[in-house]
Amino acid sequence: MKKKIAIIGAGVAGVSAALRLHKRGYQVTVYEKNSYIGGKMNQFKQDGYRWDTGPSVFTLPHLLVELYDLYGKKTEDYMRYEKQDHSCVYYFKDGTNLIFYTDIDKLTKEVKEKLGVDPKVVVDYLADCKEKYEVVGTMFLENPIHKVSMLPWDKVKKAIPFLFTGGIFKSLDALNKRDLKDPKLIKLFNRYATYNGSNPHEASSILSMIAHLDQTIGTFYPKGGMRRIVGGLYDLAQEQDIDFLLNQNVESCKRVGSQYEIKSNGDVQKFDKVVSAIDHLQFYKHIIDDQKLYQKYKKQERSASAFIFYWGMNQSYEELGLHNIFFSEDYKEEFRTLFKDLDIIMDPTVYINITSKCDPEDAPEGGENWFVMVNVPAGKVFTPEITARLRAAIITKLEKALKRPVEAAIASEKTWYPEKIAEDTGSYMGALYGASQNTKTAAITRHPNHSSKYKDLYFCGGTVHPGGGVPVSIQSAKIVDKLIANES
Ligand SMILES: Cc1cc2nc3c(=O)[nH]c(=O)nc-3n(C[C@H](O)[C@H](O)[C@H](O)COP(=O)(O)OP(=O)(O)OC[C@H]3O[C@@H](n4cnc5c(N)ncnc54)[C@H](O)[C@@H]3O)c2cc1C
Repeated sequence: MKKKIAIIGAGVAGVSAALRLHKRGYQVTVYEKNSYIGGKMNQFKQDGYRWDTGPSVFTLPHLLVELYDLYGKKTEDYMRYEKQDHSCVYYFKDGTNLIFYTDIDKLTKEVKEKLGVDPKVVVDYLADCKEKYEVVGTMFLENPIHKVSMLPWDKVKKAIPFLFTGGIFKSLDALNKRDLKDPKLIKLFNRYATYNGSNPHEASSILSMIAHLDQTIGTFYPKGGMRRIVGGLYDLAQEQDIDFLLNQNVESCKRVGSQYEIKSNGDVQKFDKVVSAIDHLQFYKHIIDDQKLYQKYKKQERSASAFIFYWGMNQSYEELGLHNIFFSEDYKEEFRTLFKDLDIIMDPTVYINITSKCDPEDAPEGGENWFVMVNVPAGKVFTPEITARLRAAIITKLEKALKRPVEAAIASEKTWYPEKIAEDTGSYMGALYGASQNTKTAAITRHPNHSSKYKDLYFCGGTVHPGGGVPVSIQSAKIVDKLIANES
């Protein structure tokens, strides 16, 4: 008889884990509290517009292809994606704007023209990011680093000296100041710390490897929006004998004899193994009721959350691209306020994602679907007054930068904020990526993919090793599969 595995949570990590473990020969049941799968990677439609709710930047598509390959399927039968000509358009307060091309020649030309920076500076910096990714990143992202017996020692030996010479104890900001010098380039490459909700002035310079993924490997767009990433995987999972139990809020998970009893909606089922694909703090606090481990991991600082305005615009803005960033004047103060004062500044860095640039049907003709996001502290409460102030500050900033009306063009509107993100996805305090990476050792102290206390209990998803974000969450499911295969 097949061994039974329960997966709690049907976000992109839970669905990826289900596909891998089913293929490995387990009878898989996925519990999801919502009526839909996808967690943070959801979508909604309103007044003729479509929006992705959460993630918008898509890198490392080969991790998805691997899952389709596992079943001998063609990725394009489930989802299509295209490489973008540029990763982002950056707007600075002095009116400079910079198109960040993924082609190195176009990029260095743009940087030379707009900032007067020697192309060699950017070429050398990105080469360093690439080396970091290849020597440290892949070892770290592909392995259960907390399981000493499974470490690839040949790769670890190469990575350890590199960690010191490559500056693990230097902040990303310090590295960028040393290697880039130009204040605008520093700000721009500091931004990669926000890819896991962290502060570039505190987080390790090792995070510069993210620039390699975004710039050199490239930024991609999935046709139909980010939702297609998890939608395609779910379509594949539904063709298999995998049970998805929607509207099933897991209430408890108890070790009884050699099995686990999972209770949801009053019903109890037994399993040989359990994979938690939800926020590990919620798992410890509410589901397995281990207050000691909850308190231990709760001490780690949360990553940033976000306030998102979904604006249906009745005009189009040709000057904007798929991804756009409008920087704050004082980036350092913005992060200090976010992580130390647990507050927001009224000149925040604003990110706008517009999928109707690639999928015109995401907005009525002549309009655009704006996803307008600012980073805010996890757990921050937004009263109607604070929300109104933030909204007004963003509009003033955008109208000044774009030199044309914004507010008058908003024809449809909705918001998402920490409290609601927490409620909808089970994310502790609405943090986007679990714990922050604001210490130099954060990567190692992050929650492992297995439990050393509870036998046959595993963890995947954006709050545990190797980290937050869509590709890394998919990768965490692969590590769990590796761990289970190793222990079977
Ligand atoms: C606004 C925003 C912007 C982001 N931008 C990016 C980006 O541009 N690029 C990027 O790579 N990443 C981005 N991220 C992060 C990315 O979305 C996450 O890292 C990733 O989606 C996490 O997937 P997951 O499966 O681990 O968790 P989730 O998506 O949170 O899924 C967890 C699932 O578990 C379910 N669940 C919770 N508790 C229970 C329970 N008790 N019983 C049953 N089910 C339960 C939830 O309902 C949910 O469906 C962003 C996130 C947000 C919110």
